[in-house]
Amino acid sequence: KRTPLIAGNWKMNLDHLQAVALVQKLHWTLKDAKHEDGSVEVAVFPPFTDIRSVQTLIDADRIPFTLGAQDLSTHDDGAYTGEVSGAFLAKLDVKQVIIGHSERREYHAEGDDVVAAKVAAALKHGLVPVICVGETSEDLEKFGASAVPVAQLEKALAGVSSDADIVVAYEPVWAIGSGQAATPQQAQEVCAKLREVIASSLGAEAAARTRVLYGGSVKSANIASFMREPDVDGALVGGASLKVDEFAAIIRFEK
Ligand code: 13P
Repeated sequence: KRTPLIAGNWKMNLDHLQAVALVQKLHWTLKDAKHEDGSVEVAVFPPFTDIRSVQTLIDADRIPFTLGAQDLSTHDDGAYTGEVSGAFLAKLDVKQVIIGHSERREYHAEGDDVVAAKVAAALKHGLVPVICVGETSEDLEKFGASAVPVAQLEKALAGVSSDADIVVAYEPVWAIGSGQAATPQQAQEVCAKLREVIASSLGAEAAARTRVLYGGSVKSANIASFMREPDVDGALVGGASLKVDEFAAIIRFEK
């Protein structure tokens, strides 16, 4: 049985004061919600500059959210101006790190080789890579929905060992920030194919325990329909994770 994961990718939003305010409000709003008993995992992925403040708050108030980062360096340390090491993130109690998001693939020219190197760096430092894959609308027209995400995931998992703790997120690029989410059936079809990739790369046990998320215009009005699908284990939420009531409603989804 896989614990559902509802993850908020804040992208480049909220300074550290706004971050602390949002996490506090979200925690109050969620009092007695099911994440309190561990039946749903809630993760937040703030910008680097917020991580220390959010970590201190989560720690002090014993808030049951997982802390994540949006990126990491392929290197451990050294002369890499502007980069942030996975070792530093791990020291701040960061548990998960987003890798391969389409915004990094597009705006920072991160190809499958960089994604694979970042996955290796995350695992080396004890972080769970949240590996994002997804097709553009052109890919969708030319190759269908699953070919590109399947190929991206195969490359990302090439050097990963079968006992590695990972999360996979299917995020069709055309659904991100567009208000046009995939249908639950589309998400299920691709998530099932991605689980097959996990099975062939890492084995059946890994495929059975690894969570595969859907991301792209997830909101409170559509979360339940995604969560009803057998191979969708949660959501990677962008815009809606910045609104306390909306994100709380997503976390409180009922199938
Ligand atoms: P939206 O939820 O804003 O569509 O963003 C999805 C996303 O990119 C999460 O990583």
